[in-house]
Amino acid sequence: MIGIFAPRSAERLTGLGTTIFAEMSALALRTGSVNLGQGFPDVDGPRQVIEAAVQALRSGRNQYAPGWGVPELRRAIAQHQQRFYGIALDPDTEVVVTTGATEAIAAALLGLVNPGDEIIVLEPYYDSYVACIAMVGGVRVPVTLRAPDFRLDLDELAQAVTSRTRAILLNTPHNPTGSVLSDDELRGIAELACEHDLMVITDEVYEHLTFDAIRHRPLCTYDGMLDRTLTISSAGKTFSFTGWKIGWATGPASLVTAAMRAKQFLTYTSGAPLQPAIAEALGLDDTYFDDFRADLQAKRDRLCAGLDAVGFDVYPPQGTYFVTTDIRPLGFQSGYEFCLELPGRCGVVAIPHEVFYDDKEAGRPLVRWAFCKQESVLDEAIERLGRLRS
Ligand code: PMP
Ligand code: GLN
Repeated sequence: MIGIFAPRSAERLTGLGTTIFAEMSALALRTGSVNLGQGFPDVDGPRQVIEAAVQALRSGRNQYAPGWGVPELRRAIAQHQQRFYGIALDPDTEVVVTTGATEAIAAALLGLVNPGDEIIVLEPYYDSYVACIAMVGGVRVPVTLRAPDFRLDLDELAQAVTSRTRAILLNTPHNPTGSVLSDDELRGIAELACEHDLMVITDEVYEHLTFDAIRHRPLCTYDGMLDRTLTISSAGKTFSFTGWKIGWATGPASLVTAAMRAKQFLTYTSGAPLQPAIAEALGLDDTYFDDFRADLQAKRDRLCAGLDAVGFDVYPPQGTYFVTTDIRPLGFQSGYEFCLELPGRCGVVAIPHEVFYDDKEAGRPLVRWAFCKQESVLDEAIERLGRLRS
């Protein structure tokens, strides 16, 4: 007898559904809304970097890159870490190029975590952390950053550590809250990691997106952290090439090699002609990084002022290109429902925080808005949101 085949996904994917970013971008497309949801810039990164990629495409760099990444990119990543943070890396053993930070996160967890290990994550968490921890059979242990300041409570962090804790998975500057971990917070994390002999995987993709006088300092530069920290970043945010998916992990050879051993069987390698172009991007002079920051800061201020005028409680970020609001002053309670209804009400799309929490109540009234958009787009969104007041 021929039965009807009913596909069932593996149990490890239970509850993971579709990523909120895909769901909300599809909603924006369907409804013709202004998309302040998924974080991607609406203008391309530097022209000369695009030209470098075109040049690479035309000059035959179209076959597999080495699994570790092309040598000039690995060298450029090492030089970048030296130039901005004084970190010395061997480009041959302490740097691996990945398919975006997303693959670096997956490879790090696959390469370093055993089933049953506990991984401490800051919540709200980036959604791929949850999925990857689940896929490796780990157990996530969230520590909540709470509105309005979204600071890390070091006592709560210390209480989250058990004999099964394998690693802390950190993100600073932090998506979606926009917090940049302070010197005291980073020092506290470092002390805890050393005291309990923990590894730290730190996602620093927004390293160059900080505002006012705030600057990002990598956790691996703190006492005792160099040997126990795997640092992850990506060209997507810094150079506005989110679609290129060029990321990397750096750190001691032992941790980088563990991630690489997993990575080689995920994608092996990718983006061969894009890698030399990102090598060039990493070497751009300080003006590029300063101008990019200043431009985003002005956009942050513009969107924050607009959201404030609409009537939200606004929590201006220290970094990233996202701002969080509380929707309750406008009479709404659930950010998720609000975001589903927003295209119909106003023609705007945003991201509800709730999906990034185990403690759903902490995230329920919070909504994230992306400001890496042209000023006219931000203004249009604010004008449309004005309908919420009537
Ligand atoms: N980590 C965080 C915190 C992010 O916001 C993102 C979003 N892009 C990523 C990782 C993934 O980066 P990539 O696009 O380079 O894979
Ligand atoms: N990092 C982006 C954001 O937070 C989304 C990336 C993705 O769609 N996976 O909006």
